[in-house]
Amino acid sequence: MKNIIFIAPPAAGKGTQSSIIEKKYNLPHISTGDILRDEAKKDSELGRYISEVLDNGELVKNEITYELLTNRLSQSDCKNGYVLDGFPRNIEQAYKYDEILKDLNQELGYVLKLDIPQEVLEKRITGRRICEDCGTVYNINSINEKPQTESICDKCGGRLYQRNDDNITSFKNRYDLYIEKTKPLLDYYTEKGILYVINGDASVEEVAERIDKVLKEGM
Ligand SMILES: [Zn+2]
Repeated sequence: MKNIIFIAPPAAGKGTQSSIIEKKYNLPHISTGDILRDEAKKDSELGRYISEVLDNGELVKNEITYELLTNRLSQSDCKNGYVLDGFPRNIEQAYKYDEILKDLNQELGYVLKLDIPQEVLEKRITGRRICEDCGTVYNINSINEKPQTESICDKCGGRLYQRNDDNITSFKNRYDLYIEKTKPLLDYYTEKGILYVINGDASVEEVAERIDKVLKEGM
């Protein structure tokens, strides 16, 4: 098994698909966000620094993220591969990731890009509703994912709310930033011949099958 990187715009289902691969192939699902949040819980100088930075909504210094990621990827559960989610986000990080892999004597593996039309993502984001009691996520723009009664949770009867940044302006900002930052990244991995584009405009199961096909062909 090889290593997998996911590149996808906001609301493309990257997290969901990463979790499916994690279970199906028994690979660790590694996200730099999780690594930082775990470190922030530790009662150490580094932990306190990260906790403060995250609380202020700022970015942790690159060197620290790289070091923590290197440590994580060198653990024994990553020996047969892993799913990396949320990294690299830009070309600088991609160069750094190459160095990390070289140090660990590992290969890039697969870069999976989930492609979904912007309008579809927009609908997913603006239609997203979350139960304030049990956390179940609904989508009022989707026949399969909308609650039976508007703004009430099917499972527990809790009230559904919309996250602050699930609005069109915030989405457009995030989307534009994604396109800008990932363009050089995609060119880089295309040149290396390891970029696989997957049409993500389908059900979770269908997209998982498409990913499966790519991964099986290469194994
Ligand atoms: Zn609920």
